[in-house]
Amino acid sequence: MKKKTALITGISGQDGAYLADLLLKKKYKVIGTDRRSARMNNWRLERLGIEKKIIFEEMELGETFEIERVFKKYNIDEVYNLAAQSFVGSSFGSPLNTSNITGLGVLRILETIRNRNPKIKFYQASSSEMFGDVLHKTQNEKTPFNPQSPYAISKLFGHYITINYRNSYNLFTVSGILFNHESPLRGEEFVTRKIVKGLVEIINNKRNFLELGNLDAKRDWGFAKEYVEAMWKMMQQKIPEDYIICTGRTYSIKEFINYCIDYLKIDSKWIGKGLNTKLINKKTNKVIIKINPKYFRPSEVNYLKGDFTKAKKEINWKPKISLKELVEIMLKDEIKYYNK
Ligand code: NAP
Ligand code: GDP
Repeated sequence: MKKKTALITGISGQDGAYLADLLLKKKYKVIGTDRRSARMNNWRLERLGIEKKIIFEEMELGETFEIERVFKKYNIDEVYNLAAQSFVGSSFGSPLNTSNITGLGVLRILETIRNRNPKIKFYQASSSEMFGDVLHKTQNEKTPFNPQSPYAISKLFGHYITINYRNSYNLFTVSGILFNHESPLRGEEFVTRKIVKGLVEIINNKRNFLELGNLDAKRDWGFAKEYVEAMWKMMQQKIPEDYIICTGRTYSIKEFINYCIDYLKIDSKWIGKGLNTKLINKKTNKVIIKINPKYFRPSEVNYLKGDFTKAKKEINWKPKISLKELVEIMLKDEIKYYNK
C-alpha cells in the first residue's frame, strides 16, 4: 500500500508532537509546518525523539501564498489543522490576530484544498470552549454553542466553515470538538502545566508561591496522547462527521491542585474565601498558592463536561487515563526534567 502523507499544522505544539509521533508509528510521511519563530522551539519533538523524522516547512496561517506553496510542493493525503492562537487568555488582548489565525486560517487552508485537490482529507481542531457559558449540563454534538471569548468565537468560525465546505463542496472535512487535554508537553501558560511546574519549583525552593486566577472553574481534562488517536480515527471513517472527545468527568482547578499536593505530599491546607483564598504550608504557615485577579478573564467559562457516546460508538474511542493518573504523569515528568 502507498505510504500516506500527512500535513500537520502547529507541529511545534503539544498535539502536533503527539500526533506526529502517532502518524510516524503508522508509517506516514509527516510534513510539519511551523512559523519561523517556532523553528528554535522544537523541544516537544525532541523529547519524543522524532524531530529528525519530520519534514519541516514554514507556513504562517495568515499568509495564503505560504499555504499554497506547501500544498503545491507535496502530494498530501490528510491535513490536520492544529495551528492556532490557542490560548483563551491571550485572545482577549489580541482578538484580531486570534480571528485571523484561529478563524480565517482554517478557511485559507480549505480554499487551497478546494482549488488544488478536493480529495485531500481535512481535520479541524475545534474546542469545547465553543460551548462557553454552557446551555446544557453535559455537552454533546447537538448542544448549542455559546462562546465567551475571541478564541472561542474564532474556533466557532473554523468549525462552521469546516462543515460548510463538507456540505457545499463534498470535501472530506471533520471537526473534532476536543475538551481540554493536557500532558507533560502542555504549554506553560495553561493552568494545569502552570500548577505542576510551579509546585515542583516550590518544593525545590526555586520559588516561594504561585499566583492563579479563578480556582472554581471546572474542566473536563483528558490526556493529550489519547486524544490525537481520536483525531486519526475520525479521518479514517467512510463518512466524514464531527465528534466530541472528552472524559465525561469534570473537576475544579482547586481539585486539580489537591491531586497535585496529595501526590507531592505537601502538608498544606486551604484558608480564606474568594480573592483571599490561599493554600498554606501547615508547618511553616508560608503561602504556597494565592489569587491574583490579573489571571481572571473578562468573561469566564465556568463549567465544561462532555459526552463521548458518539465517539465510542462510531470510532471505538474512549478515554483511559483518569485525572489522578494524568496528574501523576505530569508531575513525574516535571520532576524528571527539573532534575536534569
Ligand atoms: P499549542 O501547543 O498552543 O500549539 C499551537 C500551535 O499553533 C503551535 O505550533 C504554534 O506555533 C502554532 N501557531 C500559532 N500561531 C500560528 C500562526 N500564526 N501560523 C502558524 N502556526 C501558528 O496547542 P495544542 O494544545 O497543541 O492544541 C492544538 C490545537 O487544538 C489548537 O488549535 C488548539 O486551539 C486546539 N484545542 C486544544 C485543546 C487543548 O486542550 N489542548 C482543546 C481543544 C482544542 P508557535 O510554537 O510558533 O507558537
Ligand atoms: P482553557 O479552558 O482553554 O481556557 O484552558 P486554561 O488552562 O488556560 O484555563 C482553564 C481554566 O483555569 C479557566 O477557567 C481559567 O480561568 C482558570 N485559571 C485559573 N487560574 C489560571 C491561571 O493562572 N492561568 C490559566 N491559564 N488559567 C487559569
